[in-house]
Amino acid sequence: MHDVIIVGGSYAGLAAALQLVRARRRVLVIDAGIRRNRNAAHSHGFLGHDGRDPAEIAARGRAEVLAYPTAKLLETRAESVARTENGFGVTVTNGERFEGKRLILALGVVDELPNLQGVAERWGRSIFHCPYCHGYELGGGRIGVLATGASSVHQALMLPDWGEVTYFTRGFDPTSDERKDLDRRGVAIEPAAVAKIEDHATVRLEDGRAPSFAGLFLAPRIRIASSFVADLGLEMDEGPLGPFIRTDMTKETSMHDVFACGDAAMAAGSVALAVGDGVRAALGAHRSLMFR
Ligand SMILES: Cc1cc2nc3c(=O)[nH]c(=O)nc-3n(C[C@H](O)[C@H](O)[C@H](O)COP(=O)(O)OP(=O)(O)OC[C@H]3O[C@@H](n4cnc5c(N)ncnc54)[C@H](O)[C@@H]3O)c2cc1C
Repeated sequence: MHDVIIVGGSYAGLAAALQLVRARRRVLVIDAGIRRNRNAAHSHGFLGHDGRDPAEIAARGRAEVLAYPTAKLLETRAESVARTENGFGVTVTNGERFEGKRLILALGVVDELPNLQGVAERWGRSIFHCPYCHGYELGGGRIGVLATGASSVHQALMLPDWGEVTYFTRGFDPTSDERKDLDRRGVAIEPAAVAKIEDHATVRLEDGRAPSFAGLFLAPRIRIASSFVADLGLEMDEGPLGPFIRTDMTKETSMHDVFACGDAAMAAGSVALAVGDGVRAALGAHRSLMFR
């Protein structure tokens, strides 16, 4: 029996694990290895690691956790979770089942990219969603925003702090108030239909024009990275880009003894926020083991 099973062994899950193994608790981390930022060559904004390869940050974290004798890591996928008399049983892909007294969900989210030719292969390379993560590197150059829904205007309104912005409406026409806001921020509005993305960040329009940019931004819809979360029936909150797991101040979910952290448990995430959130979930789970 493990004290805590953590599903998801990236920034949030590993940060949680580190606190718990340092309290000599037996921790099993189950990780499928599909980090949200896996396409990006550089991670920005995480103090002490600014500009580092995100895979290297995760690998360092993993090595730090596994240096402790009570840490165990399984590279597989958790397929289902069931309550048991003393905690939880987690079944992984090969059918093996593991038991833990507490469960921490650190499983991240999946970005649902728009069905537009040229987007998927440029995601994290020249097409981004977070200006704080990748805006500075565009050097104040021209930025295109590809609308994906109502929240895209907000993204276009932020980006003038990072460069000269063109907003491709893609059928999501701004309201007259939003047009005034975009105008006030100096954002150009381009209503022509977008055919595809070419080269580094060139937007090929249906009318034949093809403006080029230092980088492009879009706001994808997000969904929790594992379907078993829905089976657990946890209460959710609705963020601007999609649902995330509701937690209290200790990061406990609506189900007793189940904690959640990282992108799966907040409206908008980053590596730094995921690490801090993982620490909070670990402290919540540990307190519940000590005092409940
Ligand atoms: C293109 C891109 C670039 C980004 N760049 C930056 C940046 O420069 N700086 C920054 O701070 N943030 C950046 N981010 C955001 C950052 O990637 C996330 O905020 C961060 O990865 C969240 O960490 P997490 O641990 O919550 O989730 P993730 O890092 O997504 O990790 C979740 C882990 O859980 C695993 N998992 C999921 N379900 C299961 C299951 N059922 N069983 C086992 N394992 C499972 C996944 O495989 C994965 O390994 C970027 C995001 C994107 C999309």
